Amino acid sequence: MSASDQKLLPGKKHAPESLGRVLVIGLGKSGMSAVRYLSALVGTRVESVFVAAGAENEKAQAFADQYRGEGVTFAFGCESFTERYDLCIASPGISQFSDFYQNAAAASTEVISEAEFAWRESAEDSRWIAITGTNGKTTTTSLTAFILKRAGFKANAVGNIGDVCLDAVAAGETEIYVAELSSFQLASTSLFTSIASVILNVTPDHLYWHLSFDAYRDAKYKCLDHLNQVSGSLAILDATDEVVRQKVKELKALTPEERGFAYLPLGTMAGIRESMIDRCGASAAAYVDGAETLVIELNGVRHTLCAVDDLQIKGDHNLSNSLAAAACALTVGATDEQIIDGLKAFAPLEHRNEPCGSIAGVRCFNDSKATNVDSTLKALASFAPGTVIALYGGRDKGTDLTPLVEMTHQYGHAVVCFGECQDRFYDAFAANPGNLTLLRAPWLEDALDAALSVARPGDNVVLSPACASFDEFSCFEERGDVFKKLVADRAARLGA
Ligand code: ADP
Repeated sequence: MSASDQKLLPGKKHAPESLGRVLVIGLGKSGMSAVRYLSALVGTRVESVFVAAGAENEKAQAFADQYRGEGVTFAFGCESFTERYDLCIASPGISQFSDFYQNAAAASTEVISEAEFAWRESAEDSRWIAITGTNGKTTTTSLTAFILKRAGFKANAVGNIGDVCLDAVAAGETEIYVAELSSFQLASTSLFTSIASVILNVTPDHLYWHLSFDAYRDAKYKCLDHLNQVSGSLAILDATDEVVRQKVKELKALTPEERGFAYLPLGTMAGIRESMIDRCGASAAAYVDGAETLVIELNGVRHTLCAVDDLQIKGDHNLSNSLAAAACALTVGATDEQIIDGLKAFAPLEHRNEPCGSIAGVRCFNDSKATNVDSTLKALASFAPGTVIALYGGRDKGTDLTPLVEMTHQYGHAVVCFGECQDRFYDAFAANPGNLTLLRAPWLEDALDAALSVARPGDNVVLSPACASFDEFSCFEERGDVFKKLVADRAARLGA
């Protein structure tokens, strides 16, 4: 039976009375959520659940022990199937092009992601906001949920951050799901619809999963597929991104009837400080005006929001993120005042250019999440020129360092290269040092002390490593936490 001709439960978006025999592939966060949800339905809407749990590990074993029996069967290491299933829920970690996924698809009537399943099971009158992009998803999702919650909406951030989508649906307390959706989750959606979908940017990433850039990009665009089914829906597209701008052009070429939804371009090819209405007569635009104020012009109404300086999150990329979040909030009915209040009150997230104290008049920032050159460039641009002492280091990703060297000349006055990558990074700067003071240090703690040895009051010591953390730490969060402790320790000894 296909998704379209099943008998559906009233009050939900698309929940068949009978889910039949369900296959769950992968037992990470979303797989476990699916098992919790489905196990409660065995004997009513679910006939049986078979979990192909991937590789065995302690956590997955303990989980299986808890749910085994009562219609749920677990098999570790099983990647091919002899029986038939009515529905397969696939973990985002399993590529659509892997044998595991393909075998599951061949054995099942339908394969969907946990996010799609959660949407189907959610209340008919609930609203979903989809946020995707290579970078900025977490910030934009958190900010949107923050604005809406503060304004009194029953909104929650779900998906890659916050609750797994299905856990939030099961809890039944959310009216507006603000979903951070990865390309993996979007690739296995089919009916998912939203009131607002944001695409921030698309740069090559995760190609091992999608096999090609086109497949990666098209997976992200799937969040626009059914916007035309929701009245008042809006596509929010960052036109400062070259790839996403092509989508804006495609949508502009359609008539409103052909499109079936409105779209809002953020900025233009000239950046976030130009309006697409001014540039090429678009019907809507979000941008920063000449007075450095965030503006959204939509449906003939001009929403003048806060000043750039009122935002606590810095850098042009965060202007895109803020305008996208504001547009989502407008779409579900927040007022300009509520949006302005939320935008001003939102503090930087942990490890994302997070101010983390000062040492003898030198301000310190933890941008440990910047694990590649592109992210570090965004962080640099949010400081006053010539004020940065940059800490670069960790496990090298081997990408071209030319843009990093050039931009560091503009924003920095010193660089400390540390960790496993230090030779390549140091050599890149030594080949073109300009006015920069170049230092090197074995590990992060030594790097901070080296930075402090050349810092002047008013400088900014910025850990924005442009590398993975695994040479010294288990993850970027641990690296950031250690950095913050080191800063606190030096501040206690040397004064703030
Ligand atoms: P994600 O969840 O997509 O990884 P985050 O919000 O956690 O994104 O931000 C990660 C890093 O990406 C930030 O530290 C910043 O350097 C960069 N970034 C954030 N927003 C954007 C954006 N809109 N465009 C480009 N880069 C961004």
